[in-house]
Amino acid sequence: MNDDDPIGAKCLEDAIIPDGHRGPLLDRCQPSRCPNSIIAAEHIPIWTAEQSSLQRMLDTDTLAPNHRRSIQAQLKEVDRVLDRSTQ
Ligand code: SF4
Repeated sequence: MNDDDPIGAKCLEDAIIPDGHRGPLLDRCQPSRCPNSIIAAEHIPIWTAEQSSLQRMLDTDTLAPNHRRSIQAQLKEVDRVLDRSTQ
């Protein structure tokens, strides 16, 4: 992202940006939705591992409903990242 022209940066949308801050807010990064994110071949194993980890959690019967929904939402975002990487 161009720090002087952050158009499209999902991490800055609706964010309270600290005075003097420039550039992305990494703790708000949304790689599945941001046009600035780059999913390179070397990143795929990390995302695939995350996908497997989340799926394993969903396969357990011990999750509280809210926790299950949260993990399902995380898995959806991971799926979006992996879908983007194959386009
Ligand atoms: S890739 Fe992440 S950190 Fe970079 S601009 Fe997009 S949302 Fe922000």
